[in-house]
Amino acid sequence: MATDKMKVMIVGAHPSDPFANVGGTVAKHVKRGDDVTLVTLTYGLEVHTEYLIGRPEAEIRDTVRQKAMEAAAIVGVEDFRFLDFGDTPLVATRENLLVLGELIQGVRPDVLISAHYPFRETQQGGDHGVAARMVETAPSWRYHNGKEPHRPKSIWFPYTDNLLALRHPLYRVPDTYVNIADTLDQKIEACIATWNLPPEKHAGIGDLLRGMAAEHGRAAGIEYAEPFESPWLERTAVEYLS
Ligand SMILES: [Zn+2]
Repeated sequence: MATDKMKVMIVGAHPSDPFANVGGTVAKHVKRGDDVTLVTLTYGLEVHTEYLIGRPEAEIRDTVRQKAMEAAAIVGVEDFRFLDFGDTPLVATRENLLVLGELIQGVRPDVLISAHYPFRETQQGGDHGVAARMVETAPSWRYHNGKEPHRPKSIWFPYTDNLLALRHPLYRVPDTYVNIADTLDQKIEACIATWNLPPEKHAGIGDLLRGMAAEHGRAAGIEYAEPFESPWLERTAVEYLS
């Protein structure tokens, strides 16, 4: 158990996003003994649900939630909050931002991790880019709503949506890599669970996720990694620049 135990909140657009994009990092925080809360802004009814085409919406919602909870259990998380903002498109209305802000005020995370890159300059990324921009703009610092204001110490954005990113000149380069060598298997298992993949697809998705983690790891000189950029909101005081 870590002595400097933290509260960590991970926010994704769709229920499977925290696992696919930052699942290794999530499991690392659980292993460390941190309090981890997962948040999905939508039920993701329009993504990874092809196998439920034709089913009633209530059944799709129940199934998606159940599969996501199974995935959460695999990475060791019990606290998974399902917001219901509606996906594809996810829209950052004032009401939605206030709901997310109040959730942050309630959970009071030390560290906030987006499951997506914000694509601030280009508006790219679809629901994912919107979700990330909501993470950085949700007004958890409000003080006239009866809740104690709260600002996380840092907000981290991962390096995902690789092809879009690599092609865009304004995309920032990841500078921080989480070593996920000991949690990569959990990440893969969680993805298989949340996407409800049939057995014949398990090896393929494992190879894909392992290959991506290895590629990111090579950039940092370790075996397997998930890449992030340093928080824009973090402030560091130094005596001299170095
Ligand atoms: Zn997604």
